[in-house]
Amino acid sequence: MNMNDIILKKRNGAELSQAEIHYFINGYTAGEIPDYQAAALLMAIMFQKLSKDETIYLTEAMKLSGDLVDLSSIHGIKVDKHSTGGVGDKTTLIVGPIASACGVPIAKMSGRGLGFTGGTVDKMEAIPGMQTSMEPEAFIKQVNEIGLAVIGQTGHIAPADKKLYALRDVTATIDNLSLISASIMSKKLAAGADAILLDVKCGSGAFMKTREDAVALAEMMVFIGNRSGKKTVAVVSDMSQPLGLAVGNALEVEEAILTLKDKGPEDITKLSIELAGIMIFLGQKAVSLEQGKLMAAEAISNGSALTKLAEFVSRQGGDPSYIYDETKFPKAKYTEDLLAEQAGYISAIDANIIGLASQHTGAGRMVMGEAIDMSAGIILHKKVGEKVSIGQKIATIEGNEEAKVKMGL
Ligand code: URA
Repeated sequence: MNMNDIILKKRNGAELSQAEIHYFINGYTAGEIPDYQAAALLMAIMFQKLSKDETIYLTEAMKLSGDLVDLSSIHGIKVDKHSTGGVGDKTTLIVGPIASACGVPIAKMSGRGLGFTGGTVDKMEAIPGMQTSMEPEAFIKQVNEIGLAVIGQTGHIAPADKKLYALRDVTATIDNLSLISASIMSKKLAAGADAILLDVKCGSGAFMKTREDAVALAEMMVFIGNRSGKKTVAVVSDMSQPLGLAVGNALEVEEAILTLKDKGPEDITKLSIELAGIMIFLGQKAVSLEQGKLMAAEAISNGSALTKLAEFVSRQGGDPSYIYDETKFPKAKYTEDLLAEQAGYISAIDANIIGLASQHTGAGRMVMGEAIDMSAGIILHKKVGEKVSIGQKIATIEGNEEAKVKMGL
């Protein structure tokens, strides 16, 4: 077997065998297949696509490229949640505590921001003292003791995806249904949960721009998950405008806290209750989805989810006083208001552009490994459908570097 033949075969539209796909993934992960051959194969896949079987072989090979997390010593049904990425998506910080407060053990590995999309691990680090890495034994112990732990993904989970993702990012080979499915599901299957909830985002601020594409991605990932023996469910949710009103790390944590205090924006509250309700049902703590949602809403109104968030923050070294008083988060030095130039109604807010503008304020990285300005970002004062009068504030751009704030504007 050799890589040239595999590239040629895919370029000519034929189906690759399981052995050929494993040969590619193992060789690429080991550094024996160069980036230029991997990039050529990825581009051939973009044009010729992968069949369902090829997508399953790819997912399996990527999953097996690194460690498989064993969560079997955690009591109960472990439920994982994954969002395909968006702008203003702080739901993990809301649904994790809600589901955990309702008795579902949550042992979650999350990612950092990617391009214009934010990541839970960066957001968590906006809470002073918060640790986002932990040894596996401590991670499992924490879930058994308090029912919730969230850490950054280790380098040993699906290393093939780590390498391939970086290559896809710079070779215009991200937005392919099979490549996205294999990338996400290889990591989720290696992370060891019993059940998986996928929040597939759809719209300008998501990888899948149309509902049709988002549904196809959801169906493929649900098929892969269930075939691997994990109960997998997907929700397709809107990402044509940012979720909630806050975009940026500390700003989003504040909004997540407000949501757990039942004072959050309507869209994020509704989606969080839906997602948490499904997780509670998947964790068999509710007999129906409806009951799961009622339990989720109750965990917000009775304060148990907020208490769980504070307990989790404290256990991971963070200062829980910020959870009870979210006004303690430091404010950015510079702010610029975006004012309405005419009266009318907001007809669209492009999540992609808001995400990019927020990245420019310092809330996201422009180059790998760059430090983030935790207070930077954007606060929306209006959402789609709302009325504005001339001169009224539509958004506020915030940050600690004046030039970057102006660039965001
Ligand atoms: N998120 C991932 O983890 N991988 C993709 O390919 C796209 C989104």
